[in-house]
Amino acid sequence: MSAIWHRGWWQAAQALPSPNFSARPPQEKVSLAVIHNISLPPFEYGSDAVAALFTNTIRDDEPDPFLRGLQDLRVSSHFFIRRNGATLQCVSVDDMAFHAGVSSFRGRSACNAFSVGIELEGCDFEPFAPVQYSALITLLQALCAHYPITAVTGHQHIAPGRKSDPGHFFDWARLRNAGLPVETAFQAA
Ligand SMILES: [Zn+2]
Repeated sequence: MSAIWHRGWWQAAQALPSPNFSARPPQEKVSLAVIHNISLPPFEYGSDAVAALFTNTIRDDEPDPFLRGLQDLRVSSHFFIRRNGATLQCVSVDDMAFHAGVSSFRGRSACNAFSVGIELEGCDFEPFAPVQYSALITLLQALCAHYPITAVTGHQHIAPGRKSDPGHFFDWARLRNAGLPVETAFQAA
């Protein structure tokens, strides 16, 4: 299976490299997968705005003031799964993406150091597309085969009160039924 990974890049994904990352601390292993949702503009799907956010390419002449207001953010996720199941990779899993922010899991803070971030195109207020679950499960199985991942959780679980994604429409049972190590207890900060 290792041939499908090259320096932390999953060869089955479309690469869209982001400059928003830093080296993973050398003693850190990737032990946690964090699921998120994102849509830009909010609740709209299919545009290039998320890709533009993650690659710092929101234009000065962007007509939407909300999107223009995100220009100075420096965020990223390792993976982004569109509504149609297309999977993009923005940061090598061997590096840290900027997806978790202030967070805590099993008593450890700053989860970016030991996690991989996966964004699903979506929002807290409607179901995700079935094809997104297929793509996500394929990706998580590939990750678990290559990295020592012991848990899959949500952004809302590692940053309770601050973050609400992927939200209550996200169907954790699909991941559990696929044999993935889902852990969705809320984590004290
Ligand atoms: Zn999130």
